[in-house]
Amino acid sequence: MDHVTLANGIRMPILGFGVYQIPPEQTERAVTEALAAGYRLLDTAAAYGNEEAVGRAVKSSGIPREELFVTTKLWVQDAPAEANSRRAFETSLGRLGLDHVDLYLVHQPFGDVYGQWRAMEEFHREGRAKAIGVANFHPDRLVDLILHNETAPAVNQIETHPFFQRTADQELMRARGVQIQSWGGFAEGRRNLFDDPLLSAIGAEHGKSVAQVVLRWLIQRGVVAIPKSVRPERMAQNIDVFDFELTEDQMAAIATLDTGGSVFFDHRDPVMVERLGTHRLDS
Ligand code: NAP
Repeated sequence: MDHVTLANGIRMPILGFGVYQIPPEQTERAVTEALAAGYRLLDTAAAYGNEEAVGRAVKSSGIPREELFVTTKLWVQDAPAEANSRRAFETSLGRLGLDHVDLYLVHQPFGDVYGQWRAMEEFHREGRAKAIGVANFHPDRLVDLILHNETAPAVNQIETHPFFQRTADQELMRARGVQIQSWGGFAEGRRNLFDDPLLSAIGAEHGKSVAQVVLRWLIQRGVVAIPKSVRPERMAQNIDVFDFELTEDQMAAIATLDTGGSVFFDHRDPVMVERLGTHRLDS
């Protein structure tokens, strides 16, 4: 497994396992299988409703804690967010059955983000979040957060896949010491990604699947990827991407697939700002 080193020196696997949309009753099995397949980075969130199941799988795996990299995320909080965020963090740690997480992310750029971030900085100082970061921040929000706080986010987890490549955003983040992490690396299969003719042809040249080409392309760009699958054969396929390399020409060909826009929604769309920004978790 290759790693990236975050701005604060923490090492993070470049490939991990995401558990969004895995129902809680399936998550323990899926994470157990993912750990058996060799994944060591797990990506969950309070909003996914499956932190407890992730925690059970981690515990029963017997894998030493220091070999794992566990990420969870703080949902949108109202002002003043420090106390609410602390409660939410304690709840997440309790559900995971852990005394620290390796990465804690502000899940959405909505609500009292600055209050959330000040709470995050405290969790980091306390050693209970080894690294802190954000998700779904467009460059304007990211730069503002960096300029007006002590700690810069170590990571920005954003939609990144062949149809929305984020190269300019990645460049801005690199300049500011923020590691880019891809969510939806397969665009959740939208726009027929798994049957894309170009990606299929490149895969055929290497004896690899479209999924493997996409993950390899992300890794060669220095983007941390966290593919999700509930199927053990796909988990194994998705981690088997360290024995081949895409050529410069293949990387350049994949660059032509970029549409420059989301296949889901734009986090700057006022309808979504209201829908997500006013949603609250039960506890
Ligand atoms: P994704 O990884 O792009 O796609 C997952 C889909 O691809 C599933 O339908 C899966 O089906 C299928 N798949 C997986 N491997 C495959 C393979 N080798 N061949 C064919 N199909 C395959 O989608 P995602 O789950 O949305 O994104 C990944 C992770 O990013 C999430 O799990 C979550 O941890 C994180 N995320 C974060 C945010 C955020 O706001 N920060 C938002 C979305 C996601 P099966 O399961 O049936 O195999």
